[in-house]
Amino acid sequence: MTHLDPVQFNTGLIDFVDGSPSPWHAVEQMRERLQAAGFDECDGPAAPGSRVYCIRGGSIVAAVVPKRAESGWRIVGAHTDSPNLRIKPNGLYLAEGQLMASIEPYGGVLMSPWFDRDLGLAGRVVVRDAEGQRVTRLVDSGSAVGWVPSLAIHLDREANTARAINAEKHLNIVLGQASEVPSWDEIMLNWGLQLGDEVLAMDLCAYPMQPSDFVGLQQEWLVAPRLDNLLSCYAGLAALLEADPEQAGALLVCNDHEEVGSTSSVGADGPLLERTLARWCPDPQALDQSLMFSADNAHGVHPNYADMHAASQRPLLNSGPVLKINANQRYASEPEMIALAMDLADMESIPVQQFANRADLGCGSTIGPITASRLGIPTLDLGAPTWGMHSCRETAGTKDGAWLARLLLAFMQH
Ligand code: ZN
Repeated sequence: MTHLDPVQFNTGLIDFVDGSPSPWHAVEQMRERLQAAGFDECDGPAAPGSRVYCIRGGSIVAAVVPKRAESGWRIVGAHTDSPNLRIKPNGLYLAEGQLMASIEPYGGVLMSPWFDRDLGLAGRVVVRDAEGQRVTRLVDSGSAVGWVPSLAIHLDREANTARAINAEKHLNIVLGQASEVPSWDEIMLNWGLQLGDEVLAMDLCAYPMQPSDFVGLQQEWLVAPRLDNLLSCYAGLAALLEADPEQAGALLVCNDHEEVGSTSSVGADGPLLERTLARWCPDPQALDQSLMFSADNAHGVHPNYADMHAASQRPLLNSGPVLKINANQRYASEPEMIALAMDLADMESIPVQQFANRADLGCGSTIGPITASRLGIPTLDLGAPTWGMHSCRETAGTKDGAWLARLLLAFMQH
């Protein structure tokens, strides 16, 4: 269980997060680790007990196929995308002697943390290569190429009491001094393009360059970008790489587009998982006996804003994975699945916490209810407690990730 020891887990998580500035990079990182562990790409039927994966855009499904179809699947779900700033098409322009990139927020971005950070750009680009073929390439500036400066307080005396951020006007990225607008072909030449590539279309994300790190007097917190939800992707992957299930299949699905509602060809509300399960194990009994744990971060109680949690519902960082419950089915957790998780946690000596939202606050949702309603399988929503969800630098406890991974492994093997 080397991957699941807390020190190794956190080191691996930091490598994974820092190497995944976009959902497509996260999928590539997972593909490399699966391939190294003997998983093979498979788009057809898969032999019982085989280790397989398939990739579609920013989504990936990987599994140890059930030895007996009637034992079903133990499915762990997570998502590869995080709220960020995306560059618009025709997005380069000049303003006050600066080359600017016009942005569009992706998902529920917490905007203020994006100011005054050294930003890189990364994503996927479709090019016409030197041979005239259309090819998709991953690109990454790898260094700080942009900045969104704050407005000085002297020019906005209400900045600390009534600051409103207009994404169209205030979050465009300054890329450098310029007197003319260059082409993306020139800009991205050293970011992963090849000589002769002509950029046709792209998905380009801004990301903060500051590496993930530990903080706290005892280094008890991990601060990093995109912990929602790369922490769960990594925990699910670490579990799958250790899994040696007896009968039921162990499966990890990490979908793109959760932050924008999951309705897309590769999102949790699309056909990807259903089709993949049907290809790998066509026996309809498999789905009937399947169960799902949907892993996405939870809101740990914030000491400066404790009353944003009901008094009886205050998950703490470093106190174990949170089982998320919502009577209105914004979380899919049902009592049998909650009890199963508590039993597995008990067997593995892992603490768990339960959480429901304040009754007077709306509740965010995740892929759990969407997958549960598409596939009709019992589901639990759970996740590591974090602070600052949807900031471009979030905080998690250093103990919770490894606990989550061990709980997911116990689920995959039971
Ligand atoms: Zn999430």
